Amino acid sequence: MDCMDGFIESGDGTETRRRIKVMITTNRKDSAEALDEEVQPLNSPCESPGKYEINLRRRLEEITAFPEFPILPDFDDLSDEEEGGGLTLPATPTDSPSEDEVDPELLNREEDDDEFDFCLPQLSHAAEQAEEFARKVWAAGWNCCHFKHLPDWLQDNDYLHRGHRPPLPSVYECFKSIFRIHTETGNIWTHLLGCVAFLGLAVYVWTRPVIEVQLQEKLVFAAFFIGAICCLGLSFAFHTLHCHSEFVGKLFSKLDYCGIAMLIMGSFFPWLYYGFYCEQTSRMIYLSVSGVLGFTCIVVSLWERFGEPQFRPLRAGLFAGFGLSGVVPAVHYALAKGWIHAISRASLGWLILMGSLYILGALVYASRIPERWFPGKCDIWFHSHQLFHILVILAAFVHYHGICEMAMHRLAHGECDDHPYEAITLQ
Ligand SMILES: [Zn+2]
Repeated sequence: MDCMDGFIESGDGTETRRRIKVMITTNRKDSAEALDEEVQPLNSPCESPGKYEINLRRRLEEITAFPEFPILPDFDDLSDEEEGGGLTLPATPTDSPSEDEVDPELLNREEDDDEFDFCLPQLSHAAEQAEEFARKVWAAGWNCCHFKHLPDWLQDNDYLHRGHRPPLPSVYECFKSIFRIHTETGNIWTHLLGCVAFLGLAVYVWTRPVIEVQLQEKLVFAAFFIGAICCLGLSFAFHTLHCHSEFVGKLFSKLDYCGIAMLIMGSFFPWLYYGFYCEQTSRMIYLSVSGVLGFTCIVVSLWERFGEPQFRPLRAGLFAGFGLSGVVPAVHYALAKGWIHAISRASLGWLILMGSLYILGALVYASRIPERWFPGKCDIWFHSHQLFHILVILAAFVHYHGICEMAMHRLAHGECDDHPYEAITLQ
C-alpha cells in the first residue's frame, strides 16, 4: 500500500492533517502478499506517470460524482484487511480501473459508522491534493524498467532484460527520450545520424553545377537517396515513437518495414540503370521486377501481424530474399561481359560487399546475437538490432560508393554505340 499526506479541512473549519492512503488493487491477485510482489511503488521504474495521473484523476472524479458518497473516510482508521478497496493504481501501464474496483463496503460505511466527516468540499480539496501529488510524480519523470514489466505490446526481445522505456504518453516525451540511455538509444541515434549523413550527401549532389553532375545523374542518384533517407528516417521515427501507444507503435513499425523495401528498391535502381545502360530491354525487365518485388514487400509489411516477434525470421527472410534477387542481374552482367569487367566497370566487388553486409545484418537481426549468448549483458549497447542498424548504414555507404564509380565509368565512356560489348572489349 502506498500513502500520501494531505491537509483536509474539517467540518469545524480547522485544518487537520490526515494521511490519505491510496490503496492499490490488482485484477489478478487479492492477498496483501501478492500486492507487495506485483504492485509497483508510485515512482517505480515502470510506472508511467502520465497514465497514473490520468487513472488517478478519473478515479477521483468517479468518487466525487458518486451521489451516495458525500464522505471522505478517515483512511487511517481502515484496517489492513481492507486493503483490497480504494483507489486503483495500475500495476502496469496497461491496467485500467473498472467500476467494481471501488470496494462497495467502503462506499457504504457512512450508514453504520459515524467516524467519518461529511463534507464535499473536503473531498474536492483532497482531490486537489491528490492531483498535485500526481503532478509531482509526473514531473519526476520516468525510469527505465525491466522487460517483464512492459505491457505485452512493448515486449519484443526478451534477451534484453533491463533498460526499457515504459509507455510514454506524448510524442514530446518520446522525442525527449532520445537524449536518455535505454535499450533504444543506440537504435535511434545510429539511424538518425545515418539519415542526416545521407540528407547532407543528397543536398551536396543536388547542388553541384550541371557541368559537374548532369541532371540525369542527379535524378538517378535521387532514387537512391530517397530510399536511404526514407528508410533511415522512418526507422528513427519508429524507434523513437513505438513506446507511445500500441496504435502508434504498430503504425510506425509498418512504416519502418516499408522504409527497408524503399531502400532496397532505391539501391537497385542506379545499379540497374548504369549496369544495363546500353541494353534497354534487360534494364526495363529488371527495373520492373525489382519494382514489383518492392511493392510486394511493402504490401506484406502492411499486414497487421507482420511486426509480431514470432515473424522475425519471416521479416528477415523476406527482405534478405528481395536483396538477394539482385544476384540475378549481377550474374547476367558478369556472364555477358566477363567477371573482370563486371568487377572493374560495374562495381561488382562493391555490390558483393554490400550484399554481404545486408545478409550479415539480416542474420544478426533474426538470430538476436549477441544478446542470445549473453542475456541481460547487451541491454543498452551492442545488441543485435543496433548491430543490424550499423550494418545497414555501412551497406548503404558501400553501395553509394559503388554507384558513384559506375556513374564515373559511364560518363567517361559516353553514350552507347550499336555494339557496346565489342566496343568495350576492343578498348
Ligand atoms: Zn530498427
